[in-house]
Amino acid sequence: MGYYDNDTYTKVILPEGEMPTQWYNIVPDLPTPPPPPLHPGTREPIGPADLAPLFPMAIIEQEVSMERYLDIPGEVLDVYRLWRPSPLFRARRLEKQLDTPAKIFYKYEGVSPAGSHKPNTSVPQAYYNHKEGITKLTTETGAGQWGSSLAFATAQYGMECEVWQVAASYRQKPYRKAMMEIWGATVHSSPSEVTEYGRSLLAENPDHPGSLGIAISEAVMMAVQDPNTRYALGSVLNHVLMHQTIIGEEALRQLAMVGETPDILIGCTGGGSNFGGLAFPFLREKMAGRMNPTIRCVEPAACPTLTKGEYRYDFGDTAGLTPLVKMHTLGHTFIPDPIHAGGLRYHGMAPLVSHLYDQAMVEAVAIGQTECFDAAVQFARCEGIVPAPEPTHAIAAAVREALACKESGEEKVILTALCGHGHLDMAAYQAYFAGELVDYDLPDSEIAEAMKSVPVLD
Ligand SMILES: *Cc1c(COP(=O)(O)O)cnc(C)c1O
Repeated sequence: MGYYDNDTYTKVILPEGEMPTQWYNIVPDLPTPPPPPLHPGTREPIGPADLAPLFPMAIIEQEVSMERYLDIPGEVLDVYRLWRPSPLFRARRLEKQLDTPAKIFYKYEGVSPAGSHKPNTSVPQAYYNHKEGITKLTTETGAGQWGSSLAFATAQYGMECEVWQVAASYRQKPYRKAMMEIWGATVHSSPSEVTEYGRSLLAENPDHPGSLGIAISEAVMMAVQDPNTRYALGSVLNHVLMHQTIIGEEALRQLAMVGETPDILIGCTGGGSNFGGLAFPFLREKMAGRMNPTIRCVEPAACPTLTKGEYRYDFGDTAGLTPLVKMHTLGHTFIPDPIHAGGLRYHGMAPLVSHLYDQAMVEAVAIGQTECFDAAVQFARCEGIVPAPEPTHAIAAAVREALACKESGEEKVILTALCGHGHLDMAAYQAYFAGELVDYDLPDSEIAEAMKSVPVLD
């Protein structure tokens, strides 16, 4: 195909002029609609007015949109072009080392300024807020990837940004904080002294490790107090997954350039956005009968939301301020063990990914972190790129699949997303080489305890 020699190419480049100019919204194509979000007080389906203190109107409209395609604004495309289209690689050296007949492709999102897929949504979110006259955004961040992505995006539009970073990661990852500050953001350790909720948690435990759910509560509380401030979420919601579909739309075109269709797609799932972004355009093709890939989510064994959680209405945050959404959840008070993949330590899942899993349209598997880092180091030695701790889960699952192909002799085409690089995660790799990585086993009793906090509806 084209100038790609099928025996030698390693990198598939989509010309800038062929970058997709629309996001894909999977909702109108689903066989059954996902259950609606409910108001936390009335427990009735929420309307746009309920979300207006949190998000700009353009985002609220996207959240409930039934349009199949949405045009990406020119001002957003201009920023995307700093790093997009992102490259698709074929992992030839890894294939050789695994001695597998499978072909392994990975879409690399670490080329963005923040080093992950998250600017694909932080940029449009900042843009729509800016356009509606909002001057400041608040948010939470776990590993620091989302906070730095939003700080980058707000800097592009001359806005302020205030970030609540989970305390454990605030202490462990000072470089992420510096990165946010370079782009002009203010960063707080969460729980913080800034909100009443944070102060109450610190009074109970001055060394509180924090959690994503707590940090979301603090960022939401601050946003609703100020008419010029809104809140931005880096994953989970429909509009976020839709913004990320640029990943899958590009990958579809790139695989077509080398004449391949995937037999299996694999993505790591924290809140589900890089997975949804890669998978949904391929799922559209699958629903239309044009290809038939298996689609697999990979989550940490320490935070097994899909594989061990329950599909229930639950809050997105710990204080119970957000709408109730139907999703796989470990309970909104659940605080996962401190695995290094901070971006995957979330108690819930994107309602769209949960709905697809419930409908058996996607599969899920949970993997412990030592197997993930084994695979990541093998990957880095073959392919050069050092993965962030989160996509090590996708790499470990891809390696499992490639080794299964070696057994069966199947020449499967495997596609995964390497959704970020690990340059600021050296502490995790240091722990790995020092033999200090622990595989946390999450006992069912602990899940049952956290599930007690989930509201009981009808
Ligand atoms: C935030 C993050 C994740 C987890 O979020 P998803 O919404 O599940 O994609 C995974 N990988 C990286 C590199 C991240 O920054």
